[in-house]
Amino acid sequence: MLRIAVIGGGPSGSCAAEILAKAGIKTWIFERKLDNAKPCGGAIPLCMVSEFDLPDSIIDRKVRNMRMISPSNREVNISLDKVYGENDNEYIGMCRREVMDAFMRNRAADLGATLINGLVTKIETGTNKQGPYTLSYSDFSNGETTGENKKLEVDLIIGADGANSRVAKAMDAGDYNVAIAFQERIKLPKKEMGYYEDLAEMYVGTDVSPDFYGWVFPKYDHVAVGTGTMQKNQSLIKSLQEGVRQRAQKRLVNGEVIKVEAHPIPEHPRPRRVVGRMALVGDAAGYVTKSSGEGIYFAAKSGRMCAEEIVEASKNGAKIPTEQDLKKYLKKWDKKYGTTYKVLEILQNIFYSNDGAREAFVEMCDDMDVQRLTFDSYLYKTVVAMKPWQQLKLTFLTLGSVLRGRALAPKSYKPVASAVRDEEEVKKMLAVSTIKGGIKVKNTPQKVS
Ligand SMILES: Cc1cc2nc3c(=O)[nH]c(=O)nc-3n(C[C@H](O)[C@H](O)[C@H](O)COP(=O)(O)OP(=O)(O)OC[C@H]3O[C@@H](n4cnc5c(N)ncnc54)[C@H](O)[C@@H]3O)c2cc1C
Repeated sequence: MLRIAVIGGGPSGSCAAEILAKAGIKTWIFERKLDNAKPCGGAIPLCMVSEFDLPDSIIDRKVRNMRMISPSNREVNISLDKVYGENDNEYIGMCRREVMDAFMRNRAADLGATLINGLVTKIETGTNKQGPYTLSYSDFSNGETTGENKKLEVDLIIGADGANSRVAKAMDAGDYNVAIAFQERIKLPKKEMGYYEDLAEMYVGTDVSPDFYGWVFPKYDHVAVGTGTMQKNQSLIKSLQEGVRQRAQKRLVNGEVIKVEAHPIPEHPRPRRVVGRMALVGDAAGYVTKSSGEGIYFAAKSGRMCAEEIVEASKNGAKIPTEQDLKKYLKKWDKKYGTTYKVLEILQNIFYSNDGAREAFVEMCDDMDVQRLTFDSYLYKTVVAMKPWQQLKLTFLTLGSVLRGRALAPKSYKPVASAVRDEEEVKKMLAVSTIKGGIKVKNTPQKVS
């Protein structure tokens, strides 16, 4: 009977293990840290909730308002009440990864997968990497930090072990460039937290990232404040984080940093995602989208699609699938999402290339058709049919962004006043207080926008 090891108990691993266990296949799922709080913004699209049967209890906040902030601090508010109507139920889910991951992993275990609290340290791949595979691991289930050294032999491995994947190394999957993301979790007093009740913010500008965006995402009692940039700009990451803090300072003043975290984000898929009877899913494979940096849904989905292919090819575990069988999952994946990745890469290259383009991008987000199109495709992961005049308008707006090579805030623009305090009050507060903890921020007088 087929024996499968899923290495990694994040969204990709849990969703793969769930499908395998449901089909009655002998499955082990390895997670090195059962309370792992993966560094992550934790934003998930609405469709993930129903598609992966997620309960309300794992969602900290249901965000219906998004604020885009341009390099010149122009603010565009996107309200899902306006895009979809007040009585509709659309939202972006904000989760803490420790909560969401534990839920999905335990569900796979309840369905029959054997959950091992262990760190896989070595993978012997057999002749020509075709298996059977021998895993060496430190088993922490006795509660000791050192762990007990153990071995397990399996016929097939799913590598769901994230961006620093050990499975990818064992199968010689090849490297990928990684972006680096940095995040501080900042606890805010009740009043300021109230401001972020159902609001997320996105900041663009060279000061917050030369090729991505900065964010303030609300969690249950704190906000996640972060930024990302491609590998080549990695050395800038702390100054970029300082940039996000400065831009959001009037809302974050009096906050206290409770956690500082950083983690790589894959920039594109690995050269080889299936070798022998080893398949990569999620971040290990390289499935984070450009522009949005979204990876949770794609991790869960790829885990599920890979496992479904294995269930079918193995006839519910009666035989061992071949390399060709596993590659069918890649074919289906690339067919389903290849265009999405390409389009988002092009958009990132256009809109995050310089401050002029970013300014135009934020301006463009004020358009109701753009909002509808963006949220339909993000929340539901469907290709949205557009009327010809909408297509034409979007083309002109995009071209406009390409052509605008310098930062320009419209003359008529008036900064949106702080929703929490008036400007005078903010200035006075910033003279005496600052965010406590986290990265060291230069103590220079700050310009309040
Ligand atoms: C700062 C930051 C912010 C982000 N924000 C968002 C966001 O808001 N929305 C979004 O959709 N995406 C976001 N992402 C991307 C998202 O976090 C990833 O795409 C997603 O976590 C990938 O899931 P995964 O299951 O493939 O891998 P992971 O979540 O990385 O899970 C891998 C698991 O494997 C375990 N593991 C690793 N090696 C071993 C081993 N040898 N043995 C046993 N266990 C092992 C790890 O402990 C971990 O639990 C963000 C990423 C970063 C870095």
